[in-house]
Amino acid sequence: MSPEIRLDGPTLRANAAAFASLGAPVAAVVKRDGYGWGARALARELDDVVESYVVADDVELAALRPATGRPIRLLADAPPGMLARILDLGGIPNVSTAGAVAEARVEAARRGPFAVRVGIVDSSLWAAIRAPDAGAFAASLAGAGLAVELWTHVTSPARAGTILREFAAARRAFEDAGVPVASVDAASTASAAAPIAFDRLRIGAGLFGARMGCGVAVRCAIRVHAPVVRRLVPGSTSWAGYGDVPLPPHLSAVVLRCGYGDGFPKALAGTADILSVGMQYTARATSDGNDPQVLVGADDDVDTLAARAGISPHEFVIGFACT
Ligand SMILES: *Cc1c(COP(=O)(O)O)cnc(C)c1O
Repeated sequence: MSPEIRLDGPTLRANAAAFASLGAPVAAVVKRDGYGWGARALARELDDVVESYVVADDVELAALRPATGRPIRLLADAPPGMLARILDLGGIPNVSTAGAVAEARVEAARRGPFAVRVGIVDSSLWAAIRAPDAGAFAASLAGAGLAVELWTHVTSPARAGTILREFAAARRAFEDAGVPVASVDAASTASAAAPIAFDRLRIGAGLFGARMGCGVAVRCAIRVHAPVVRRLVPGSTSWAGYGDVPLPPHLSAVVLRCGYGDGFPKALAGTADILSVGMQYTARATSDGNDPQVLVGADDDVDTLAARAGISPHEFVIGFACT
């Protein structure tokens, strides 16, 4: 007996469509092998409703390409010598260093114009440049037959205004340098509904049903069905699983075959109707009208469950897949 853990295709598609209804096409962010669920499996569900995909690097691009004919954008710069292969695979490369720009200029001279992505982010975690460096970076790209797709990442709600103001200034720097700006994208799930100008939305966790305050009407796409292995009738036991979780004498509960070893967060123990969470088994109080075997389903809320477990929606989503 083992839990059945899967994604619901129609819900994934409806979630993508809900973001697209904000007014910009969706680039599905399927890095880290589709947040653990398989980038190709996600593409099979999403290909009709998304504009493009975003992956981390050339390895993820090569793995995803057989599943889709759509553009695939890269977050990281090409490793030295890999740009030609990325372009051959229909990837849209990112550039953030002088070396990457030099290689792009050589490729453009060889094969003609193409677009590169340039990120404007004031945090060092991404392959991006800082806004004050935009003028010099734009000059290094000028005259090479390269267009740019400018992107930023709103890494802090508190600094969103500054980030977007600097992004707009950087865009002007590229235009002033004569580098064609092919498109701009400036959002992840959390900032999707912010009133900012963009040509597409980069959405990852939102596809699975995370809202992260963006106010888009998405639903949980994760389905966890955990078989009942035991029923605990009132009085049949005093303690639920490990530790000192008392089982109130009036309570009916079940033991389900699904635990933290399957991705169900251990920290949910002691919250709501979850009494304890072991590696493979979870004790859950039962109530009338609820199917206790539906551990995560259509009626659940990704943000609420993640908050109850004290983790991010991303960790909740990826946890079930990466076990
Ligand atoms: C991961 C990532 C996203 C997607 O973020 P979600 O919060 O999962 O929607 C968007 N943009 C960049 C640059 C990212 O690294």
